[in-house]
Formats: sequence, C-alpha cells, structure tokens
Amino acid sequence: MAGLSTGPVHAMLPTRSSAAPLTAPGWHPLALLAVLAAWLASVGNLPLWLSLGRLPEMTAPHLVTTLVLLGGALFLMLLATLALLVWPRWRKPVGVLLLVTVAVSSHFMLSYGIVVDPTMLDNVLHTDTREVRDLLSPTLGVALLLGVALPGWWWWRQPVRPVARLLPRQAGLAVLALLAALVLLWLGFQDLASLMRNHKDLRYRVNPYNTVYALARQAHGSVNLARQPLQPMGEDAMRTHGAVPGPLLVLVVGETTRAANFGLGGYARDTTPQLKALMGEGGMTYFSDVRSCGTNTETSVPCLFSHLGREGYMARTQRHENLLDALQRAGMGVMWVENQSGCKGVCDRVPHADASELVPGTVCDGGECQDTALLQALPAALQRLTPEQRARGTVLVLHQMGSHGPAYYKRTPAALKAFTPECTSAALQDCPREQVVNAYDNSVRATDDLLAGVVRWLRSQPGATGLLYVSDHGESLGEKGLYLHGMPYAFAPDEQTRVPMLMWLSPTLRQAMALDEGCLRARAGRPASHDNWFPTVLDLAQVHTRWSTPGASLLAGCTGPAWQGRPASPQDASAAPEADVRLAGFVDERRAQALDGVR
Ligand SMILES: [Zn+2]
Repeated sequence: MAGLSTGPVHAMLPTRSSAAPLTAPGWHPLALLAVLAAWLASVGNLPLWLSLGRLPEMTAPHLVTTLVLLGGALFLMLLATLALLVWPRWRKPVGVLLLVTVAVSSHFMLSYGIVVDPTMLDNVLHTDTREVRDLLSPTLGVALLLGVALPGWWWWRQPVRPVARLLPRQAGLAVLALLAALVLLWLGFQDLASLMRNHKDLRYRVNPYNTVYALARQAHGSVNLARQPLQPMGEDAMRTHGAVPGPLLVLVVGETTRAANFGLGGYARDTTPQLKALMGEGGMTYFSDVRSCGTNTETSVPCLFSHLGREGYMARTQRHENLLDALQRAGMGVMWVENQSGCKGVCDRVPHADASELVPGTVCDGGECQDTALLQALPAALQRLTPEQRARGTVLVLHQMGSHGPAYYKRTPAALKAFTPECTSAALQDCPREQVVNAYDNSVRATDDLLAGVVRWLRSQPGATGLLYVSDHGESLGEKGLYLHGMPYAFAPDEQTRVPMLMWLSPTLRQAMALDEGCLRARAGRPASHDNWFPTVLDLAQVHTRWSTPGASLLAGCTGPAWQGRPASPQDASAAPEADVRLAGFVDERRAQALDGVR
C-alpha cells in the first residue's frame, strides 16, 4: 500500500531531498485548525451555551435544535476564519492568543454576568493596575489553567506535517466551511433571528468575535474622533452677575453608587444616616429618579460634563471641550481633585491634582486613598486657586472612588462599617450574597460620610456655597446573575443606570436665587438624568453661554427673575481671561460648525 501511494505524492513535491515521507508524523494542518475551531466553539463558548440553556423559552427539544444549528454554524464560521487567517508561521501563537482571549472573556462573563461589547472593552483598555489587582481571583487562575495553560501546552507541542499546495486547500476549506455555515444559519433562520432579536445580549457572548468586533469598533471610533480638532466650548461664557461674588460650588462625581441602595432614596437599610440628619436642617434636595448617561466610567464621566446630553454624546462625531472649560472661561476658579483612575479627559485644561498629592500619607495606603482624602483635600484645593478667581466663584470637582468593585470592602474606613460580615473576595459569586451587599452598603456609607462632610465644610465657608452630587452609573449585585456594571445601555438593568443625585444649597445661595423650595421639591420627584447636569451647574454658577439650555436646569422655573437674568453689563465680559478675547475672533464660525456636527 505504502509503495502504491508514495510515488504520486513524491512526484508532486518540488525536490526529493526536501520532501517529507508520506508517513511523516504529525497533524494535517487543516485537521489541527478544525480541532482548534471545535475547542473554541464548544468550551470556548461555555457562557453562550449556558445562557442559551437558561432562557425560559428553551424547552429541551428546542434547545437541542438551537445548539446543533448555532453550535454547528459557529464551528464552521470559526473554521472558515481560521483557514483564512491562520497560516503556518502564525499557527501556534495565534492559537494561544485565541485561547487566552476566550478564556479571559469567558471567565468574566461567567463570574460577573457581563458581556463583551465596545464600551466594556473601552473600560477594560482604560483600567489601571489598581483595578486589575482587584479583579484577580483564584477562579481566574483556574480559568487560565484549564482554558490556556493545559490546552495551550497541548497545542504548542503538536507536530504538523508539511502539506503540498496548502494555500489553495486552506482557501478552499474556508469557502466550503463558510458556505456550510450559511446553509445551517439559513435552515434555522426564523428561530435564530428571533432569538437574537429577543436576547440582544447573546450576540455579545459569541467568543471570540465579540472581542474582535469590540476592538475593531473601538479602534475605528477612537481613530476617527482623535482626528477631529477639539472644538472650543463656552468662549462667550460669562457670569450673569459679574459684580456679585461668585459662589463656592463643590461637584462630587460619584462612582458605582446605585440609587437602589441609597438611604435617602428609600432603601430599607440606613446607608445615608448623616445625610438624613442634614436633610432635616434644610437646603438639601434628593433627586429620586435619575438615569446615568452610560453604564461605565469611560462613557458617563465625559458625557456628564458634555453639553451634548446622552443622545448627542453617543452619536458625536466631533471632540468638544466641556463644562469645566466654560466655567473657567467665565473667569471662575476650577479645580479637579482625583481619587480614581483619572478624569477621562474632562480636567485636561483646568488645574487638577490627585487627592493623595494634596493630603499625603493620611488616609492613603499603597497609593490607594479612601474618599475621606477628598474631604481633607478641600482646603488645599482651594489654596491652589488665586484670590481673583475665587472672588469670581469657585468650582471644585471631587472624583470619588465611591463604591468601585469588586473590592467594595476596601472603600470603607473601619469606623463606618455598619454591616458585617463583608465579602472580601474579588470573586463575588463565591461569597454569600448578603456579604456582597454588606460590603457594598458600607461603601455607600463612606459616600454618605464624604457628602455630609462636604456640606459641613461648605457651611463653614463664607458667602454662597453649594454641593451637587451624582453617581456615574450603578452596579449589579447578583440580580439576574449579573455583577459589576458595563452592560450595553440598551439592555442594562435598572440597577446599573439608576443613580443617586443630591443638591445642597447654603441659605445665602438660596436667598440669592430667591429659590422656591416647593418647586424644587416637586422637580426632584420627576425624571432627571445626567443630561441635566451641564445646565444645572451653569445655573448654580450663574454662568451664561450659548451652549447651555437653561430650561433643562433642575432649578429651571424655581428661581427668581434676577437670578435668571442675562449678563447685565459689558464690563462683565472683562472678567473673562485673556484667552477668551483671543478666541473671540473665530469662535462664531467654529460654533456654527460644531453645532452642525451635533444636530
Ligand atoms: Zn464608574
């Protein structure tokens, strides 16, 4: 037998000396690709198959048909992709890279119920080492061992035999596999189409295409946006009552604190005892129905300070300066104090500092500070602004660590831990749920402590003062099998998008605005969102710019006519920094272009 077939095979090979004998050991390259495709389609997509199995409409026979059709189609698509893209030189490293990709994304999908989409990936790409440390867990180790180390070791050691005319064969396999996949998808079209329509999250669970898609979208989007010139913001900004001393405002940008667990919002547990006590003393308003712009920090924080609102921000094609630029252009002193992984570009053009830099060595441990540091940093932050700026009004922004997970327990000083025992593992699903909630609720008490502390500090400052707080997004604590945040907005649960929002105004400020408190109380019960932040802050700061929509301020209609007035005299404009005058020449044209881009 060997003699019969050896002749023709050898005849096809270019030279006898370099030709492998027919009996050369090792895998046919295409067979090895099929093994990899089978692993990726089955084990590599465990989260997809498990979520399919959990769907209520999946009766046993229906599940089997779906698994066969979808599983078969996925295997064939993977085979086609591998056959197209994986050539001999890259075979081993690409295989290992794919194993790592699907093992890591599967681990996070299974552990936290997340899906892999462009915004989640954006979040991952901007995660700092501190946050990565919080995510490391023994289960991740097990996933890497079973999903990468063992199969990767096997994959790397497999001998592959040389095959003649590999290029046309591999290309042929790609075409055949793709056609077969299309046939399977066509056979199950009705069923699979309605499945994907009803459960849009499933498409973000298909490994490794979810990661590849997210990377491509991310790269495309950021490259396009990065090419755009930065559009100036608020070149016309000025304080409406330039002669009167401006207020001292503290804006607190919260992190991962959801409305559902905020004591002031009616949560059964008292997670905001200090704020509740202050509430009785007047001047405080809790907004009970507020939606975040995004479900992750990368989206929500810049969106919050953008004039575009959620819809405009998500569809933006241009880069704009933001609220802080407008406030600074109006001549106010602006300072950003950071206690998290950065301001996401919002504070690029205003003074900013890390809390740890302003209060060295107090409540910071190993470079990580609890939010008490923000409170302690307030006097130092104020000192960094000139007396002239402070006379025109001051806006200090505190960017919290808040309830950032999964290591919630790290966010609360021991003295504030009211609920025990706490989950101290990064693998939240391994802790009893009460312990996860305990640790989370304690972190809300740390936010309560910070906000109440800011109010007390503001009370001790002269003149009109105010606080505005909102969290960037919410958090899932095991509801519907979900943990953390970052679900695509369209199907994110309420836990991730409903956030607490709070306003406190000093008696002087309330008096100056002739505030109708009943009107504000009524507004506080109606729906609001991050979209209201930009106009509300401008309203509080009494800054007028054409970029604002005063009607969207949460104070709209609740303040006296004097407060709503337009700039009184041209002298007010002279309060603006010199840069504004330089910009003034070409801003009109720029603004028209920018608005065209937005609308
Ligand atoms: Zn966040």
